[in-house]
Amino acid sequence: MNPPLENYLKDASLFRGKAERACFPSTEKEISQLLKEANQKKIPITVSGAGTGLTGARVPQGGTVLSMERLNRILKIEWDDSAGSGFAVVQPGVILKDLQEALEPRGLFYPPNPGETAAFIGGTVATNASGSRSFKYGPTRRYVRRLRMILPNGEPLELSRGQTKAEGGTLSIRLSNGVRIQIPIPTYSMPPVKNTAGYFTAPDMDLIDLFIGSEGTLGVFTEIELAVLKKPEAVVGGLLFFDSEKECARFTWEARRIGRAESAGTRLDPRLLEFFDSRSLKLLLKKHPRIPKEAGAALFFEQETQAGQEDSVHQPWGHFAPIPKEFRHDLPVLVNEQVALNGFRKIGTDFAVPDAKAEAMLDFYLEILGKSGIDTCLFGHLGDNNLHANLLPKTQEEFDRSKGIYDLLARKAVELGGTVSAEHGIGKVRIPYLEMMIGRRGLEEMARVKRALDPNGILSPGNIVPVELLHAAHGSINSP
Ligand SMILES: Cc1cc2nc3c(=O)[nH]c(=O)nc-3n(C[C@H](O)[C@H](O)[C@H](O)COP(=O)(O)OP(=O)(O)OC[C@H]3O[C@@H](n4cnc5c(N)ncnc54)[C@H](O)[C@@H]3O)c2cc1C
Repeated sequence: MNPPLENYLKDASLFRGKAERACFPSTEKEISQLLKEANQKKIPITVSGAGTGLTGARVPQGGTVLSMERLNRILKIEWDDSAGSGFAVVQPGVILKDLQEALEPRGLFYPPNPGETAAFIGGTVATNASGSRSFKYGPTRRYVRRLRMILPNGEPLELSRGQTKAEGGTLSIRLSNGVRIQIPIPTYSMPPVKNTAGYFTAPDMDLIDLFIGSEGTLGVFTEIELAVLKKPEAVVGGLLFFDSEKECARFTWEARRIGRAESAGTRLDPRLLEFFDSRSLKLLLKKHPRIPKEAGAALFFEQETQAGQEDSVHQPWGHFAPIPKEFRHDLPVLVNEQVALNGFRKIGTDFAVPDAKAEAMLDFYLEILGKSGIDTCLFGHLGDNNLHANLLPKTQEEFDRSKGIYDLLARKAVELGGTVSAEHGIGKVRIPYLEMMIGRRGLEEMARVKRALDPNGILSPGNIVPVELLHAAHGSINSP
C-alpha cells in the first residue's frame, strides 16, 4: 500500500502544501509518461525526496507529487587500486546512510555528510548538500560524475562531467528526438563561498552543474554516479573549550590558515571545524553535564591520520576533552525540543561569507543576537564561515521580531559578499533573500533558464524561481 498523501505535503521546514495525488514510479518510462501527460494537461509535478529539506522545496502547491522512494537501489560500487579512484552508481531514492553503510566494509567512503543522513541521494544532488566535512572535501557537486534524468518535457538525458561545456553564454542540449534546447547562462556572479543559492553559473560551465542544485526544477534524476574515496585509516577528534566566542573563532581561523599553508610543514589538516557559542553549550549541558559551566564557546575538530599516529596528531591542539560521538548531533535535537516547548517555529540562518569578512559577520551575529532579548544559539561550520544562527521565539511578538532579525542578518551577509544559502537551498521560502543577493535581473535570468527547459512550468513550480516569472511573455528558444 502507498503511504498517505498527507506525508508529502510538508518537509522539515514545516512549510505546508496541497496536492491531488502522489505517484511512486519505479522506472524511467513511468516518469517520462507522467511528465508528457502533465505537459499536455498543464498539471504541476513536484519531485519529492525524503522530505528532510529545510526550505519547502519538495512541498507541492497543487497537482501531483512524484515520489522517488521506489527508485532505491545501489547499482554498482567499484574501486580501481591502480588509478586510486572509485565510484558508486545509485538510484536517487537511495538513503545517504545506506550508501555510507554499503561503502564502509569495502574501506570506502562518500565525503558529503549533511547533518541529516536520512536524506535521499537524489535530494542531496538536487540541493547540492554540504556538511561539516565539506570544509576539507567540498559540497556534493564535487562528487557527481554522471547524471541520468528525465527532462520536464519527458525526454531522457544522460550527462557525464566534461561532456558539454558552455559556449558564448549558452548551453546547448540535443535530445534523442532531435530537439535542440539552448539555455542562456545567467550573468550574475557566484559568491566565492560555499553556496547553493540559485542556479549555478560560470562562463565556461559544465552543463551537469546546471542540474546539480536545481532543486527539482530542471529535471528528475533517475541514476547518479558519484565519486567515492578510500576511507582514512584513522580519525582523531576532540572538543576545545574557550572563554569567549571571539577567542574560539580566532583560534579556528588561525588553525585554518596554518592548515592551508602548505609551506608551513605542519601536520594540521582538519577535515571539520565546528563552532558552538555559549548559548549552544548551555542547551547541550542538559545532555552533557561534563561541559565546563563557565565555557564561553567550543570548537569541535576532526583530523584524518594514519593508524597508530593518533597520539602524535593530538599535540598541536593542546589539551582537549574526549568527545562523545553524539555531541554534535544532539544540538539540533535539543533545539527542536525547545521549539516544541515554545510553541513557535524557529528561525534559522544558513549564510556564509568570504574568509576576509568572517570576523565582521561574527561580530554582527554576536551584537544582534546578544541584544535581541530572544533565546538564540549560534553554531555550525566555522571553517566555511557558515554559521547557523537559530532564533527560538516564545511569543508572537518575538516571532515577528525574529523574522526582522533574519532579514537584517541576510542583508549583512550579502553586503559582505556572501550567500543567503550556503547549504540548504532556496526552495519556496527563501526566494526574497535570493533576490536580495542576485537582484530582480538575476531572478529573471533564472526564469529564462527554467523556461528553456520547462516552457509550461510544470516541474516543481515555486522553487527558486518566482512563479509569476515562469509564464512571463518571453518566448521559448527551443528549436526542432
Ligand atoms: C536535522 C537536519 C540537519 C540538516 N543538516 C544539513 C546539512 O548539514 N547540510 C545540508 O546541506 N543540508 C542539511 N539539511 C537539509 C536536508 O537534509 C538536505 O537539503 C537534503 O539534501 C534534502 O534531501 P531530501 O532527500 O530530504 O530532499 P527533499 O527535502 O525531499 O527535497 C529537496 C529538493 O530535492 C528535489 N529532489 C529530490 N529528489 C530529486 C530527484 N530525484 N530529482 C530531482 N530533484 C529531486 C526536490 O524536488 C526538492 O527540490 C538538514 C536537515 C535536517 C532536518
